[in-house]
Amino acid sequence: MTITKTKLINWDDLASELTDIEIIREPNQVIKLSLDYYHFSPILQSKLKDKKANLVLRPTNETEVLQIAKTCVKYQAPLTVRGAGTGNYGQCIPLEGGVILDTTKMNNINWIKPGLSSVEPGVKLVALDKKAKEISWELRMFPSTYRTATIGGFIGGGSSGIGSINYGALRDRGNLSAVRVVTMEDEPRVIELRGDDVQKVNHAYGTNGIITELEIPLAPTYPWAELIVTFDDFMTCAKFAQALGDSDGIVKKLITIFAWPIPSFFAGLKKSIPQGKHCAFLMISEYNLELFQDLVKEFKGEISYQKTAQETKNGTPIYEFTWNHTTLHARSVDTNLTYLQSGFPSDKNLALIEKMYRHFGDEVMMHLEFMRIDGQTTPVGLQIVRYSSEKRLNEIIEYHEENGVNIFNPHTYILEDGGMKTTDFEQLEFKQKVDPLGLLNPGKMKAWLER
Ligand code: FAD
Repeated sequence: MTITKTKLINWDDLASELTDIEIIREPNQVIKLSLDYYHFSPILQSKLKDKKANLVLRPTNETEVLQIAKTCVKYQAPLTVRGAGTGNYGQCIPLEGGVILDTTKMNNINWIKPGLSSVEPGVKLVALDKKAKEISWELRMFPSTYRTATIGGFIGGGSSGIGSINYGALRDRGNLSAVRVVTMEDEPRVIELRGDDVQKVNHAYGTNGIITELEIPLAPTYPWAELIVTFDDFMTCAKFAQALGDSDGIVKKLITIFAWPIPSFFAGLKKSIPQGKHCAFLMISEYNLELFQDLVKEFKGEISYQKTAQETKNGTPIYEFTWNHTTLHARSVDTNLTYLQSGFPSDKNLALIEKMYRHFGDEVMMHLEFMRIDGQTTPVGLQIVRYSSEKRLNEIIEYHEENGVNIFNPHTYILEDGGMKTTDFEQLEFKQKVDPLGLLNPGKMKAWLER
């Protein structure tokens, strides 16, 4: 059953049962807390702009989450969990209204020890990373929204980021150790999932459980220098990035490359990137910079920007030009620009990258993030697209797919049509058990709608 009776719910009655919990009903604030960065997509803009919740609740602990879950089940009210609302395809936008459960007051770091941390979901990534660094550890990976996003939201709606060149994606085994999840049953329960069982809720857009606690593995920390290396030719830049990814002895955290004119969208970096140059944005361990420079020479690159780890404490961090921040900068220059998310097959010669680069030219501008996928350095594309129409966007997507590029479509809010690509029966089965009325973030899990 899908809930479509939101209009029949008496929200005053529902609110009167939760008076101990912070509640937001002021219309403008509710609208603000109902939306995310869906507007990156011209397709989603029209579909989602008017969606809004009926009210927002801000619990401070798991007991309050249990209370909210019980009340929502009683009133058959849809419930959508929200962290910082930085998702970029409407993951936390409530399609059927209802309650937004905002986790930002659940922000305790329970404990940190070498290699592992335990946190509440509303902890900001930056806060956890800082705390871990006190004992010489750090986050294995973070999105470019590191300074604003929550850990619960990263697990619920994110995929990978800065650090993925070493540790792969969030759903790779080992990147999430355990979670506690509150169910949406008549008598809500807390279920602890450990080991491989975490995949039942990992990257499920909050459709099958409210995560109230997470155990997040950590990585040893390094002093990360930030560098920009420029090249005359895009494919030389791409091959340099692949070679850097494959250089196991050089410790790095970020390898991003941009074809010109993408660097022209970065207002704050105009002085650091000469006109017409293609470039690599990098985070490299300071301990390895001498050897790294030899690699730069081999590919005839020019280091045009360099900050020591100490110097990175001031100014905009380099990662805020990478991953989906690139799209943010591009759209601040021209709102007709949008993006793709694509997985290229692992190939040291980057033949398919070259084919797509030459085929589309400036219509689909190359932005690649290098990740470790199944142990191999592999590029994923976050290409910037000059949008003309939905029809043309679909043609671009089809051309990529026909040529063997996997598109993780960022122009849909449906879980399976974006990154997941196929039905995750484990997640569906878990939803059937813990959310039998389909109240959690309704409309996002296709397998549930079509079951
Ligand atoms: P929200 O947007 O609030 O939520 C995301 C999803 O998780 C929603 O479906 C929500 O319902 C669910 N959720 C939140 N909390 C819980 C919980 N406690 N239990 C169950 N479900 C929950 N993503 C990347 O992966 N890598 C990037 O590098 C990256 N860069 C970005 C750059 C920009 C400029 C923007 C706008 C977005 C970017 N994103 C990126 C997407 C997003 O910022 C990240 O995924 C971020 O981690 C989401 O965190 P959040 O707290 O904002 O989550």
